[in-house]
Amino acid sequence: MKTQLELAREGIITPQMKKAAIDEGVAETLIRDGIAYGHIVLPCSPSRPNQNVVAIGRGLRTKVNASIGTSSDINSIELEIKKAKAAEEEKADTLMELSTGGDLNAIRQAVLAECNLPVGNVPLYQAFSEAAKKYRNPNKLDSEYLFELIERQLADGISFMAIHCGINRFSIERLRKQGFRYGGLVSKGGTFMVSWMEYNQKENPLYEQFDRVCALMKKYDAVLSLGNGIRAGAIHDSHDRAQMAEMIINCELAELGREMGCQMMVEGPGHVPLDEIAGNIMLEKAMSGGAPYYVLGPLPADSGAGYDHITAAIGAAHSAHHGADLICYITPAEHLALPNEQDVREGVRATRLAARIGDIAKYPERREQEKRVALARRDSAWEDHFKLLMFPEQARAIRKERTPENERTCTMCGDFCANERGYALFKDDIRGDRCRKVEAIIEE
Ligand code: SF4
Repeated sequence: MKTQLELAREGIITPQMKKAAIDEGVAETLIRDGIAYGHIVLPCSPSRPNQNVVAIGRGLRTKVNASIGTSSDINSIELEIKKAKAAEEEKADTLMELSTGGDLNAIRQAVLAECNLPVGNVPLYQAFSEAAKKYRNPNKLDSEYLFELIERQLADGISFMAIHCGINRFSIERLRKQGFRYGGLVSKGGTFMVSWMEYNQKENPLYEQFDRVCALMKKYDAVLSLGNGIRAGAIHDSHDRAQMAEMIINCELAELGREMGCQMMVEGPGHVPLDEIAGNIMLEKAMSGGAPYYVLGPLPADSGAGYDHITAAIGAAHSAHHGADLICYITPAEHLALPNEQDVREGVRATRLAARIGDIAKYPERREQEKRVALARRDSAWEDHFKLLMFPEQARAIRKERTPENERTCTMCGDFCANERGYALFKDDIRGDRCRKVEAIIEE
């Protein structure tokens, strides 16, 4: 079986590429050529032919990922299925199943069966969780088992995997030598791998046998997302030498993987102050040859716990603006607890809104929807207004709860509605369109 990347390089437009082009409102050749150059990925799992088609990358709408999964403290298949369905209802584009507690095979299979989103995961979680149970020490994991497990999960229908190939002895040495780390290590998979390497005094097998990882991904046409195991967990660690060492290696691996015909993404960057986000994205794009960038937030402050979906949304709007392609949501439970169903809903909503804000800046030519909302609002066309909103049900509910006397206004200003007064004064003067006015001048 050839991957979407290999087919694109042969000039073939696959049914998935066609579907993605229709969904995005772009030319089929834009999708095909983006995949051929490695600027776009299209996760496809032969085990789940009916999963949604989602293309991620340059020139496309910024996508939103929702992560779910059990922990050793809270583990219920029913709850995870509810969370997966909630993410899909809230219009997340992809889902990551990141369980570490309970029957991990059963949870993964149930989630894959119950939702239509492309599902990703982190295979290290199951590998180290099982080793912890079996040997009472995750560092005793047999690295051969890791490869077996990756294949089993791909065969189940996982269509993208975050794998920590970029942590190696070189990047760990950078961490040791720099002499500080305010946020420590915050990646579960990354920390497991660093610990295994230190305990066994060996190189990361996923780095050493990278071609084997790519061969497995190719076999199932899964997207390899190069995990960010030494990401910054505090804004004061942003762009430290350890993080950058891993990013350089990941970007190098992205190029190698593409040469092998594998669809590649790079992950980053964790906690990053707002003024460093544009630079971070520029570095990833420049060093990886334009590989799609899958960002976790980023969180531009460390002190927002309880409202970190908002903290991350601010970072996400900036990252989408500057070129991030897929944004992993953050929920209000971040740094505090395992997210519940409502947290999942809030996280997806906040991140979708952030991605929309970023896209408005990234693609100024695609602002038509915002214009239509503004016109409906200007004309007090409430029903049209609701239909155009991202969250119509929430908007309707708020208005219904506090109904105004004059149905053209709302209870915010009531009799003093500026909109109504302005409309009465200027309605015949402000009906024009800026673009048409410019076009008319050009025609003259
Ligand atoms: S009442 Fe105030 S907030 Fe409501 S529509 Fe009129 S101007 Fe806008």
